[in-house]
Amino acid sequence: MSRVYNFGAGPATLPLPVLEQIQSELLDWHNLGLSILELGHRTKEFTELAEKTEADLRELLTIPSNYKVLFLHGGGRSQFAMVPMNLLQDKTSADYLETGIWSNLASIEAKRYCHVNVVASSKDSGYRTVPAVETWSLNPQAAYFYYCDNETVNGVELPFVPPVTVPLVTDMSSNFLSREIDINKFGLIFAGAQKNVAIAGVTIVIVRDDLLTSVLPQTPSMFTYKIHTDNNSMYNTPPIFAWYVASLVFEWIKKQGGVKQMQEQNQKKANKLYQFIDQCDFYYNFVEKKFRSRMNVVFNLKDETLNDLFLQQSTEAELAFLKGHKLVGAMRASIYNAMPESGIDALINFMTDFAKRYG
Ligand SMILES: *Cc1c(COP(=O)(O)O)cnc(C)c1O
Repeated sequence: MSRVYNFGAGPATLPLPVLEQIQSELLDWHNLGLSILELGHRTKEFTELAEKTEADLRELLTIPSNYKVLFLHGGGRSQFAMVPMNLLQDKTSADYLETGIWSNLASIEAKRYCHVNVVASSKDSGYRTVPAVETWSLNPQAAYFYYCDNETVNGVELPFVPPVTVPLVTDMSSNFLSREIDINKFGLIFAGAQKNVAIAGVTIVIVRDDLLTSVLPQTPSMFTYKIHTDNNSMYNTPPIFAWYVASLVFEWIKKQGGVKQMQEQNQKKANKLYQFIDQCDFYYNFVEKKFRSRMNVVFNLKDETLNDLFLQQSTEAELAFLKGHKLVGAMRASIYNAMPESGIDALINFMTDFAKRYG
């Protein structure tokens, strides 16, 4: 068996021990004589798995008891609509910070439901920075303040929690569980699982329970958080397999030493790669240094005519999916929790050799 280093943004690389466990217990899960793929969600066995998964997540992030944890369908993008439908309450306006493509798309979706006040945007500069807090035009009457903690496409991450007084909502789809956070500062956190947590199909939502008092008229049941919290995420058939994979990843993170350990390792990996890019004339990164993502390292070749060759040869060297998002171009190395440091070393070795050959 030969496994490549997978730098794809998502669905993304998973820890090998997790894949091995899935394989080893796929045909006969917990001696039931059947696969988890075939298991009813109302069974005692799945209920226990669901409860343990939530307990593990609560432990990993120290989630207080006044926060609900949901395992939903619909991906990150359903949340772009669910957030305004559920959190506007009696308000008509929400604040959005625009630092990349994902927060931009979320603000466009929210316009279907309310007035969107873009407090600041780095769009004109090509999403290479986070506008200074002093320049944000905050609305103290906003129902909530929305931002994307890590812009997966643009490689921009916030190194601080926005200092706002209204409920704070964040999209952590690509950096959830990558560093320690103080849940108490947030009203709602959501994360599609297929980047840093598990596989496509499940989206995790952590929400402060006092925020769920009403929804917009005609909000579908499936888009109503309160219905899902009242039903322990089993209002309809939940994404069983994705939920199970998340449970294995949570166990894996606990074994590694928890989120603190992930954070240290992620910082080390990102520093190593950015330091290499900065000191090599052949490559560059254009994100303002303090806002560089620890998860998605976007970089360019100074001579862009070599892009195709770079991608071809890196693929041959078993470094997969380094092509950046079509909206940004260039290269992107996604280095989530499951990417070992040896993957960074292999990438740097390849980039060094490539620069020598063509520099
Ligand atoms: C991938 C991604 C999304 C969209 O997730 P889907 O599950 O495809 O809907 C939203 N936000 C961020 C930050 C992402 O990286």
